[in-house]
Amino acid sequence: MPRTSARLDALRARLAVPAQLDQAAALLTWDEATYLPAGGAEARGRQLANLARLSHEHTIDPGLDELVAELEGDVAAGAIVDAEAALVRETRRALDRARRVPADLVGAIAQQRVRGRGAWAAARTADDYAVFAPELRTMIALQRERAAALDGAVPAYDALLDEYERGATAAEVAALFGELRAELLDLWRGIQASPVRPDVAILHRRYPEAAQEAFVKETVAALGFDFERGRLDRTAHPFAMRVGAGDVRITTRYDARHLGAALFSSIHEAGHGMYEQNLPDAYADTPLGEPASLGFHESQSRLWENLVGRSGPYWEGAYPRLQAAFPGALDDVPVATFVAAINGVRPSLIRVEADEVTYHLHVMLRFGLERDLISGVLDVADLPAAWAEASRELLGVAPPDDRQGCLQDVHWSVGLFGYFPTYTLGTLLSVQLWEAMARDLGDLDDALRSGRFAPILAWLVEHVHRHGARFTPRELAVRATGGPLAAAPFLRYARAKYGALYRLG
Ligand code: ZN
Repeated sequence: MPRTSARLDALRARLAVPAQLDQAAALLTWDEATYLPAGGAEARGRQLANLARLSHEHTIDPGLDELVAELEGDVAAGAIVDAEAALVRETRRALDRARRVPADLVGAIAQQRVRGRGAWAAARTADDYAVFAPELRTMIALQRERAAALDGAVPAYDALLDEYERGATAAEVAALFGELRAELLDLWRGIQASPVRPDVAILHRRYPEAAQEAFVKETVAALGFDFERGRLDRTAHPFAMRVGAGDVRITTRYDARHLGAALFSSIHEAGHGMYEQNLPDAYADTPLGEPASLGFHESQSRLWENLVGRSGPYWEGAYPRLQAAFPGALDDVPVATFVAAINGVRPSLIRVEADEVTYHLHVMLRFGLERDLISGVLDVADLPAAWAEASRELLGVAPPDDRQGCLQDVHWSVGLFGYFPTYTLGTLLSVQLWEAMARDLGDLDDALRSGRFAPILAWLVEHVHRHGARFTPRELAVRATGGPLAAAPFLRYARAKYGALYRLG
């Protein structure tokens, strides 16, 4: 037994090295997105490349491999159980994955990311897909290679999806999306036929940035984002990032003519941030101290953004505070008008501007196309035409140019294939978690109205956050909600909420 515990200590000491190198890289990345002067960008790229190389070297160190093999013997002998057995298992998984992809391929992908992102940005500015197409073709070839290295026994797309949502397959995603699609299109048709037209112009009055910043900070702190263990800064494209235990950075951008932009993106990122702040400290710097999956991560951001931050009961409580924060701006606007405006459903060609109902149609469009690009059913040259066709079919309108079509998202340029579905999976899960929480805590509307958010956060910590990556996403969904991921709770929620807002029959 003493030898077992010494081995576990040695494991943690070894794992801490690559983990902390990654954290240093995270801080440099955060700085790059917030304060780094343009002149420092090139040097920052070199710093990050070296840190990534060092971290990889420590991960594939044969000494670590031997140590894990000994610990696997201890697990088999029953000397290590529960969370520590999970730690050994998850470490093995991380090591295997790190070893499977050859170093040259890792390097080629890292380089292609920089080239791809640059070409994508240039193509987008010039609205010229031809500038991006050759780089996209190269990236797809590299991702197919990576998929084959990760798991040659499954379709390439499934191997890539597994990186973000462990255990998920394209077939399962397609089944869930199929269930969603007809119902969402039906709901959307009802909304379009409704005479109700939310007054979204009220969100574009003058809302001074300084007042927005103060209000946003007060709001996310009230929800449970801990400023003793986190920060909120400005950036161009909002994100959340854990630098280390007790240090979680969230970011936003302010627009004096758009009240919703900073407010809802901040609540969203705070949802991600609260998950990161409440991961198990005891397993910090190990694979077990990580979030369960991207889908689970997005479930947290969407829960706070949509089920809390865009709900009627929440604003019944918070609206007077909002009116006071912007003297004169909303004096003539009743709370119901405000709630209708922040939930306005409008067709948009741009995914990140889409509402709760039509958002998933954007994700479905990308899922179908990226699966076909990876399998080779769709050639890179035919992407703009395929995008336009899918857009007409799903959103009822084709983009007038590629900038508002297949060049709008950065993901594919940096090799993120299999990532988009997690946005919708997370949203489905957010409502499923909310229903399970309501079964445990009773009617949540009252808590929202009176600003009692602590029980909501405590429930999420207890059922999701504190487990880190101990369970697979599927196991954790069952443990937390009583069943596997499903579309029905979200559809119930969307029908009830938008049926009331748009007075649908
Ligand atoms: Zn998110």
